[in-house]
Amino acid sequence: MAREAPAHDDGPRGGAGRDDAGHYDAVIVGGGNAGLCAAHAARETGARVLLLEKSPADEAGGNSFYSAGAFRVPHHGLDDLVPLLGGPDSRLPVTVIPPYPESDFTADMYRVTGGRCDPQLTSVLVSRAAGTVRWLAAHGIRWRLMYERQAYFRDGRWMFFGGLPLGAAGGGKGLIAQHTSGALTAGTEIRYRARLTGLVRGRDTRRVAGVRYADGRGTEHRVSAGAVILAAEGRGFCAGVDIKQMQQTPGHEALLGANRGCFAAFAAVYECAVPVIAAVHGFCLGGGVGLAGSADIVIASDDATFGLPESWQWRL
Ligand SMILES: Cc1cc2nc3c(=O)[nH]c(=O)nc-3n(C[C@H](O)[C@H](O)[C@H](O)COP(=O)(O)OP(=O)(O)OC[C@H]3O[C@@H](n4cnc5c(N)ncnc54)[C@H](O)[C@@H]3O)c2cc1C
Repeated sequence: MAREAPAHDDGPRGGAGRDDAGHYDAVIVGGGNAGLCAAHAARETGARVLLLEKSPADEAGGNSFYSAGAFRVPHHGLDDLVPLLGGPDSRLPVTVIPPYPESDFTADMYRVTGGRCDPQLTSVLVSRAAGTVRWLAAHGIRWRLMYERQAYFRDGRWMFFGGLPLGAAGGGKGLIAQHTSGALTAGTEIRYRARLTGLVRGRDTRRVAGVRYADGRGTEHRVSAGAVILAAEGRGFCAGVDIKQMQQTPGHEALLGANRGCFAAFAAVYECAVPVIAAVHGFCLGGGVGLAGSADIVIASDDATFGLPESWQWRL
């Protein structure tokens, strides 16, 4: 998909400007729909927020950019949705949208997942979806009815089907543009070409105290943070420790160091004061199994692969 050139360069946007020694209440990693939602929510609390996005500004938005920007929400029909829509539309008087109650949304979730969706998470999704699109509207997201993909024209009327009439104006591209504009207006600072490379631990090694990221030239920066929200993607959940690197290090220090690091990481998840949900996709190997296993809830995608290759490698 062709991208328009942005009206600005890739330097920091908004907020108080670049300050590597500075402290942010929240550092958010990833500038897709999830990361930008997290930025809005953090700014609402008055937090000083930094969002790191590994892509340049004109390629930002991750998968969210390429999506249709469709949002499934329960509703009572057209009248319920009209207040969310932008300007007047001559098609509205001849538009028919069947109500899509929460019970239908819930039934669809169970149907498409073959009954494997988590009941509590499904309940949160269904009961909060309508409020969430109103909340997003307050943060600058504009909404439209998706005539071109969720409706057909018959006997002089636009008939919607499938319980999915609502989408962000401009699809995924519009969603990211409006999100970004809303975040900058609200005071979130965004750094592009800023790829997270690691988490920084505090003196109490169980606590994450900041992040490291590499800029477009590969230079590393550190930012101290009160909270870090990971909303990024990648090829897999976790590949565990680097066994080859350990083998190349003489003595046992690398092995002991890795074990100490794993213990601290597992404990940080296990003893975390708030529930931790591990969303596992792709490979989850070695220490990754321990990390996910320490979480309160593990949600795995269909492509997730769990393995303990060290048990074969080292005959453990
Ligand atoms: C073709 C297509 C159509 C879709 N249509 C819809 C739809 O209409 N409705 C719907 O609800 N869902 C749709 N989806 C699913 C939807 O795109 C995803 O669920 C959603 O985009 C996930 O948002 P996200 O913010 O978690 O990830 P992303 O949007 O992928 O954002 C992740 C961001 O993190 C950044 N990042 C990754 N690693 C790092 C790092 N180390 N440091 C800094 N930044 C990093 C990436 O560059 C990226 O910008 C569609 C998906 C596809 C592929």
